Amino acid sequence: MELLKQRILSDGRALDEHVLLVDSFLNHQVDVKLMQAVGAEFARRFADDGVTRIATIESSGIAPAAMTALAMDLPMVIMKKSVSSILRDGILQTEVFSFTKNLAYQLTLKKDFILPGDRVLLIDDFLANGEAAFGGFKLIEEAGGIPVGLGAVIAKVFQAGRDKLLAAGYRVEALAPVKRMSEGVIEFE
Ligand code: 5GP
Repeated sequence: MELLKQRILSDGRALDEHVLLVDSFLNHQVDVKLMQAVGAEFARRFADDGVTRIATIESSGIAPAAMTALAMDLPMVIMKKSVSSILRDGILQTEVFSFTKNLAYQLTLKKDFILPGDRVLLIDDFLANGEAAFGGFKLIEEAGGIPVGLGAVIAKVFQAGRDKLLAAGYRVEALAPVKRMSEGVIEFE
């Protein structure tokens, strides 16, 4: 997606070979118009896949997922990284190791929000090692849903996640696949 790639080149910053900072338009300050275009692009790519629900992981996946849900006129569910005391019954959980925080959390989904047979598109801001996506797919499957694929706004394809997901049979669509980074340098696939 050219518009997104141009924005990453102009406003993103590779901190080192592994971490890309995009907090001025994607996950801290959010360019909602750009997210609307991102949602429209995911809707186009998954138009023929019978998707019935959009899922994402709090908090950085919410903006692109909400715009995708709006474009496809579908319900959206947010998987939580921490459980509040009011969310006790009927929950599914799996441990996920966070790439950016360097610690594990319990990814949590209330079973009621994915119905058996739901065809679920998982949307996230980044794909790195695939931990979050594998955790999300696991919960979707445990709830009886069918994972249609992962829509990643940015995929760092030099990290293991995309290959691992493809090898496991999951579809991956990345709007901006980054093949190489170093301080101040970003190259797309
Ligand atoms: P994974 O689970 O695939 O290893 O990592 C994906 C998650 O880590 C994403 O949900 C995202 O929040 C975070 N993440 C991974 N790499 C980056 C990065 O380079 N920059 C930012 N801002 N977040 C990242």
